[in-house]
Amino acid sequence: MKQILLNPGPVTLSERVRQALLRPDLCHREPEFAALQARIRERLLAVYDLDPAEWAAILLTCSGTGAVEAMLATLAPDAHALAVLENGVYGERLSTIAKAYGIAHQPLRHAWGAPLDLEAISRVRATRLAVVHHETTTGRLNALDVLARETAGSGAGLLVDAVSSFGAEAIEFADWRLDACAATANKCLHGVPGVSFVIARRAALAAARPRGVYFNLAQYCAAQDAGTTPFTQSVQVCYALDEALAEFFEQGGWRSRRDCYRRRAAMVRDGLATLGIEPLLREGETSCVLSSFRLPRGLSYATLHDTLKAAGITIYAGQGELSRTMFRVAVMGALSEDDLRLLLERCRALLPR
Ligand SMILES: *Cc1c(COP(=O)(O)O)cnc(C)c1O
Repeated sequence: MKQILLNPGPVTLSERVRQALLRPDLCHREPEFAALQARIRERLLAVYDLDPAEWAAILLTCSGTGAVEAMLATLAPDAHALAVLENGVYGERLSTIAKAYGIAHQPLRHAWGAPLDLEAISRVRATRLAVVHHETTTGRLNALDVLARETAGSGAGLLVDAVSSFGAEAIEFADWRLDACAATANKCLHGVPGVSFVIARRAALAAARPRGVYFNLAQYCAAQDAGTTPFTQSVQVCYALDEALAEFFEQGGWRSRRDCYRRRAAMVRDGLATLGIEPLLREGETSCVLSSFRLPRGLSYATLHDTLKAAGITIYAGQGELSRTMFRVAVMGALSEDDLRLLLERCRALLPR
């Protein structure tokens, strides 16, 4: 049975990406791997038309959190000069990472799902702001354009967790004053979990005082620029990412992917609305990638999840307090309209008429 993954990564793979996992065994110290790694790094920069003289894509064998950790461990400033914007689980994780590395920082806490309080943020004195782009906890797309504008006076650079937006939402690297963003193979890029990456401004890397060993981005970048890598890479997962990127560009790049996700999300939202199931956030506040919905009265998440799972469909629970009242549907991956129609049919069958 086809597995229809509507969780926020890993995603349903296309057949060509799955087949890429079966390419020949290869040592990560051989020239064939150097060529593969170089191509992936170029293609990652090409997703948002970035100039390789100014930007570097750094490939890491780890999940998305590893890339976020590497970004902060390498690029966070010391002495309370880092402000962390929190409005969900992943924003809070940025602070958890900073704390684990002993990085003195200023957390700016918001309720989960709340919009960023720009007035409060613009009063903070910081040289760098760490923020999540798409806060997957609720589906809120944080307005980084407005954030960058409102904090322009400080000139603070942004360290962005773009794990669940890279490849499907607009990211204006220059206009938003990004110093770096972290993302992964297995969300909007439709690869396999196991490799993630950071896109960093070369000037920021050159000035960095890295704190980590495995997560030292300056070391990775120097090695990868020289055609090698400090530690063993997940070779097969890199094959799959390379293929996923080829497919991504053939399908028209990030704008096409955003349009595709928007169509899928509208189909899910409209279909669930006819069943009386309402979204948590308004349309303009939500990413194209994932929407949160309120569980209808009398239907538990367990019943909804298990019924859909029996039909080959995986949805996602709310996190923490939200697990009792909410569920999430992501629309990434090699999905068809029939897959989404099946979702809506099975939901309809569950609800009393
Ligand atoms: C998925 C996700 C992560 C990383 O999760 P991993 O399980 O480490 O891959 C980080 N931030 C956001 C916003 C995410 O959606």
